[in-house]
Amino acid sequence: MLRIGETILIPEATPDGIVLASIYPSLPGVDHSTLRDAVFQDFEHIQHLRFDPVSACNVRCVFCHSDFSGAVRQLAPEAFRAAMRFSMPKLQNISVGCAYEPLMGKFFESYPSMMPRKHPAGVRARIITNGLLLHKKDISPWVEFGLEYIHVSVHSHLADVYERTMVGASMRQLCDNLRAVRLKFPDLRINMINVVCKENQVHIGDYCRWAFDEIGADRVDIYRAAFAGNRQAGYPATSYVERFSNEMSRSPALTDEEWATTVDEVSKFMGGPLRGNIHALGAAISTLILRRTEVVRDDQPLH
Ligand code: SF4
Repeated sequence: MLRIGETILIPEATPDGIVLASIYPSLPGVDHSTLRDAVFQDFEHIQHLRFDPVSACNVRCVFCHSDFSGAVRQLAPEAFRAAMRFSMPKLQNISVGCAYEPLMGKFFESYPSMMPRKHPAGVRARIITNGLLLHKKDISPWVEFGLEYIHVSVHSHLADVYERTMVGASMRQLCDNLRAVRLKFPDLRINMINVVCKENQVHIGDYCRWAFDEIGADRVDIYRAAFAGNRQAGYPATSYVERFSNEMSRSPALTDEEWATTVDEVSKFMGGPLRGNIHALGAAISTLILRRTEVVRDDQPLH
């Protein structure tokens, strides 16, 4: 963990060898004054840069493991500019939104103009959002920069299930926002994410049809929710697991058989049996990626 001025930089390597770095305006429990300053060598191998414009979110998803116990901090333009002064000759992707909700960032629209020209051509951006503030923020500067897709967390197509799983969200606002984005940016990819646990494991096949046909999504990712054993008080998941376990005498995580039911529902939507094509169905398979005409499997953890 390093620091750039008042902000925190966490470099890491993914299992497939990608050099990733994440910038946070703050993190609970981290005293940034004890960290060493980042230097140019810390940036020269970065391929994928993620940053959070703010350390806050406007909803609370029941399975969320982001820590909301700290003070809300914005990523100030001068802090972002300071990070962008370092050359990143291998940079390929920038993700806006990492652990919190980027559209709550006061300076969300201004970061693209701070990107230095010396980065490699063809760097693409992605926005990782719950989509609920798309009517309040303008994504045009990011589209002009090279926005590849927006990755929108929508954990049900049923208003009551959606609003119960994403506490504080409004299904009507979400649908208005996504349809407006689809109309205004017809070439922009919309990837919808559904993280499934007992709270929202209903009609996943219908969810896919709704996402593709009514919202105009290009891709749907279905994740099997996992709940960490080491739970912090600031995680929404912590209180949810306690409440669910007390009421139902079981974990809200799907069993292998329940996950298999979800896979079956998706296969029905896709028009063909999936179970026979997936080896070791169960704990090893945690993600289904669906496009209109194909299904692939991926066992990478949720990020
Ligand atoms: S998982 Fe839900 S609560 Fe957590 S940051 Fe994303 S939208 Fe917010």
